[in-house]
Amino acid sequence: MLEELFSKITLNWRIILEITILWFVFYRVLLFLKDTKAVYVIRGIFILIVAFFVFQKLKLNSLNWILTKIFALSVISLMIIFQPELRQGLTRLGQQPLLYAGFQEEEIENIVKEVSSAVSILAKKRVGALLAIQRQIGLKNYVESGVPLDAQISSEFIQSIFMPDSPLHDGGLILVGERIAAAACLFPLSENPDIDKALGMRHRAGIGLSEETDALVIIVSEERSNISLAINGRITPDLKKEDLITILKGLLKKGRKR
Ligand code: ATP
Ligand code: MG
Repeated sequence: MLEELFSKITLNWRIILEITILWFVFYRVLLFLKDTKAVYVIRGIFILIVAFFVFQKLKLNSLNWILTKIFALSVISLMIIFQPELRQGLTRLGQQPLLYAGFQEEEIENIVKEVSSAVSILAKKRVGALLAIQRQIGLKNYVESGVPLDAQISSEFIQSIFMPDSPLHDGGLILVGERIAAAACLFPLSENPDIDKALGMRHRAGIGLSEETDALVIIVSEERSNISLAINGRITPDLKKEDLITILKGLLKKGRKR
């Protein structure tokens, strides 16, 4: 009797664990696929599956045979097509912290205020800048490539770092919460061939970091005197200060709920 009850409990325990793991994996995969070209591929696969069942019902055997061959081939093709995404996804999975506290409301206000003020003044003065805000994925590797600072964030300090005569102006600055973790950091250059050829190394480094991590990267162009924001490998150019504030606040708050 007791033994039976015990075996039932262990069975339930397994089912709950399995459902939790499945839910977590699906959730992560969906988050990862959101806003990528994979969405279209999934739509294509869905259409193929529907066609498969329709053909089967109508007993169109030759068409069904062709479809099964296409399925087998598509697994290999998908791995080749999504090789960069798979690599990034696995890297991100490995870097994901188990518990993510997110940003405090006041912290967001302060970071956005100081950062937006600094970059808009730098843009007006035609001074180039590159600045990453860490979110869930730690940027320790990149912090270590630069000069450690661990200073309280302030618009004035950020501006002075990027002044052309500052020894720290070359490279990127990394913000971890309200602290400027480091300056003069080396970011990974994006190899995306679709990036506007007019954009130089600063923009490529900003986009590159946003491909490799979930950081929000702000780029101030000295040539164009404008502000861009790179997220998940995509760049939004020529942002007004007000738009930058709205977008940054929205994204940092969104990070809290995850
Ligand atoms: P701008 O519009 O400001 O001219 P750009 O995209 O044309 O920017 P470059 O003119 O090539 O870029 O800017 C070069 C500067 O970009 C360097 O002085 C350096 O500060 C920064 N930079 C270049 N490569 C990297 C990198 N890998 N990581 C961080 N910063 C970099
Ligand atoms: Mg340039």
